[in-house]
Amino acid sequence: MPWTSFECPDGEKIPIEKCIEKGGCRMTERCISRPTLILFARGRRTWKKKISTTQALNGTRLEYLKITTPFSERPCDRAFALLGTFHHLKHQKLDLPDALVEEGLEDPDSTGIFDFYEEEDGVHEMLDYKTAGAWKIVRLQGKYKIDVPTGEFYKGGEKKGQEKTRKEWALRDPDDFDLRMQCSRYAWMMRDMGYQVDRYKAQFTVRDYTQQTAKSCGLDRQIYMFPVALFDRETVVNFYQARNKALVEAVEKNEMPPACSDHERWRNDAGVDVRCARYCPVWFACDHGRQVRAEPMPKGEEEVA
Ligand code: SF4
Ligand code: SF4
Repeated sequence: MPWTSFECPDGEKIPIEKCIEKGGCRMTERCISRPTLILFARGRRTWKKKISTTQALNGTRLEYLKITTPFSERPCDRAFALLGTFHHLKHQKLDLPDALVEEGLEDPDSTGIFDFYEEEDGVHEMLDYKTAGAWKIVRLQGKYKIDVPTGEFYKGGEKKGQEKTRKEWALRDPDDFDLRMQCSRYAWMMRDMGYQVDRYKAQFTVRDYTQQTAKSCGLDRQIYMFPVALFDRETVVNFYQARNKALVEAVEKNEMPPACSDHERWRNDAGVDVRCARYCPVWFACDHGRQVRAEPMPKGEEEVA
């Protein structure tokens, strides 16, 4: 848990325990409320020498650095994590007989907490709740935009003589590996304990749904249900064993793992490693992260989230 400090709006750092004390704020006013800061502080996980289901979906280098390197985060940058937490807390409070809600799972290779399991009309179903940006829904749907020629041509200006194009949606393989692997892990852990799991669904609430995002992302509702195609047991077990071994050994030997993969760095179509550039809290301890942040963003990518 080397998330040790908060970063204040003026860029100074403060130990988390000091900040959350009554009267502990070092500025004239708190940047966000003390209860929310306490929620962040209590939500930190300590390294239990075994990878968690979601940790395994991140790059081993990122997780290694988060375990071994003290780092800070700005409380306001945790806004979406907070939304996700509240989303789960509300569901957690439902008292539904015969259903299993937010149960912890553990085997020799990893730990995890699934969201929901129940039998309805003879179908044993597991469910995962997510909050996500509209762009994530687009990726899960496998949609991307292409330029389609219109048959009309520019009559003047820099593009004179060139054919005009319009943007249209096309389909490719959905970007759903992480979702499938996470749900498959819970499903197989449950099956290994003797529970029947017939299907898995993921419910995504679109956190930035507006008329504009709906139009630009081709969305028609604010909550989406995705059936999750589960991987076979061998694929899942091999993946988690390998991820757990790599992280445990890296921490024990104090050896920096290779840089995260393109997928783990959230490389986008423009070739930008979005996670390294904006979201990785330990980028400063990673040569790749330092390199990405030292380079100017390609035009048009500056504000992409
Ligand atoms: S509440 Fe915000 S501004 Fe105050 S010490 Fe904590 S992080 Fe800094
Ligand atoms: S900066 Fe990028 S490559 Fe380095 S640890 Fe973070 S996500 Fe991984």
